[in-house]
Amino acid sequence: MLVDTHCHLDQFDDVEVVIETASEQGVTRLVVVSEDPESMRRVLELKRQYPTHVLAGLGLHPVWIIQNRDAVQDALEQLEEILPQADELGEVGLDHKWATERVDQLLQEEVLARQLDLAARCAKPINLHARRCLRQTMERAIAFRRHTGLNAQMHWFTQSRKLVRICNDEGVYVSVGPTVLNDVQTQRVALEISDELLLLETDAPVSVGGRPGHPLRVREVAECLARLRGLEVEEIAALCAQNFARFIAPCST
Ligand SMILES: [Zn+2]
Repeated sequence: MLVDTHCHLDQFDDVEVVIETASEQGVTRLVVVSEDPESMRRVLELKRQYPTHVLAGLGLHPVWIIQNRDAVQDALEQLEEILPQADELGEVGLDHKWATERVDQLLQEEVLARQLDLAARCAKPINLHARRCLRQTMERAIAFRRHTGLNAQMHWFTQSRKLVRICNDEGVYVSVGPTVLNDVQTQRVALEISDELLLLETDAPVSVGGRPGHPLRVREVAECLARLRGLEVEEIAALCAQNFARFIAPCST
């Protein structure tokens, strides 16, 4: 079994076909993360419709937050209400590509802190986005994990071997996406991730290497990692499936 631990299935028109096509490639479980109130509702609906395939991540994306500052308070209240129905908090994080002004960065930080508090209260693991502020975001994941004992995943966090080593030491999961197929630096970083913290993802429908994103590409990511690590693809699939089961397991803290 292969798991896409971070995708945006709600952004596809033909959801049923996407699930079927991915399943044919062995990608039978999809963590569908949300970005805003509308996608939170859609993601929960997908989980209800496809309970064996879809796991739900609920949360407010850092880019949405700064583009919709007047709607943030209401959205946080909605999230508080429905987060117990989710499997994890996500996609949340910090993004300095879009938040270049300090005032926007502070807003992202404040909203992230409030979402992490909700996750802690509901005992949910977290799925974090980081862009142009990798270390700061990773530090939030580490603090969350230390204080709550709950799991944290850094999504698409394959830019720095040094930061991945810190994730390894802190027990923070790191997911690898399709950039590993063609990018040597991503391959080097992916090799550094501890066996027991490695996860696979696509971030579909985000396109990579000129090809549209699709959850079935988890298979290509797994094949590439198998080659890099000198393993069979079935071994990587089993390893990552075990990791994901541990990551998502309900926690009593
Ligand atoms: Zn995403």
